Amino acid sequence: MNRKIALITGASSGIGKACVEEFAKNGINVIAAARRLEKITELKDYIEEKYNTKVLPMQLNVTNRNLVDDYLNHLPKNWEDIEILINNAGLSKGLERLQDGKIDNWEKMIDTNIKGLLYVTKAVLPKMVEKNSGTVVNLASIAGHETYIGGNVYCATKAAVLQLSKALRMDVLGYDIRIVSIDPGMVETEFSIVRFDGDKEKANKVYENTSPLTAQDIAEAVWFAVSRPKHVTIEDMVIMPTQQASAILNTKNYKKL
Ligand code: NAP
Repeated sequence: MNRKIALITGASSGIGKACVEEFAKNGINVIAAARRLEKITELKDYIEEKYNTKVLPMQLNVTNRNLVDDYLNHLPKNWEDIEILINNAGLSKGLERLQDGKIDNWEKMIDTNIKGLLYVTKAVLPKMVEKNSGTVVNLASIAGHETYIGGNVYCATKAAVLQLSKALRMDVLGYDIRIVSIDPGMVETEFSIVRFDGDKEKANKVYENTSPLTAQDIAEAVWFAVSRPKHVTIEDMVIMPTQQASAILNTKNYKKL
């Protein structure tokens, strides 16, 4: 197994799943991590049948610090040398104004989007430093640059991700390690279904009468950044649908504003 290895979190759906396929297509072996084991096992079968690359499904909740530490420090032989880390696992929960917000939702977003990303990075980065090589891609969002009504805590977590990418770039300066931030606007995935607690009708309305990005659009951008020569770091890529001009302004609502 001499191929490079990528660890992709949140690999069971949306952007993470599309990244698994994009990376496999480009000859990378992938550790596909998420909580829903059946989804990542299905993905392994599909990828290994279609491409000449390997997938290691890993049932992992990134908010479980001990599990993250244990799994990532006891990887199976031949899977230990992670060269690319895609910190993609993340979610939004609710769209209430702060005064009406649910604290449990805030905890979930902070635990997953900030603390989970930190736990995974802490488990992987020291080995990249040791071997003086690696690329970390953090999935931030346009919501880290701007905010919107009801976006409060989600936007704050993504602003934190943007700052962590900047800080990390300083912390690894002097090593051949690249830190990339990918910041999409609206992407049609399970994101809104999760935000609205499984209410598909409400989720579909988010994308009605506009043309959102696809998970594949983002996976291609991630691969572009990762596949640059080693001396090139794409620091921060903001990717918007053509029909969206800010976090709150898209072709569906702009005439009403
Ligand atoms: P998605 O389809 O809901 O996928 C989210 C992924 O994260 C799933 O695979 C989910 O897997 C995983 N995940 C959630 N909590 C987890 C946990 N505790 N441990 C491990 N995995 C966990 O949404 P997406 O749009 O692809 O989102 C991917 C990333 O892009 C997120 O960080 C999101 O904030 C960011 N983003 C999305 C958009 C958008 O409009 N969709 C825009 C900008 C940025 P399991 O449920 O199986 O664990």
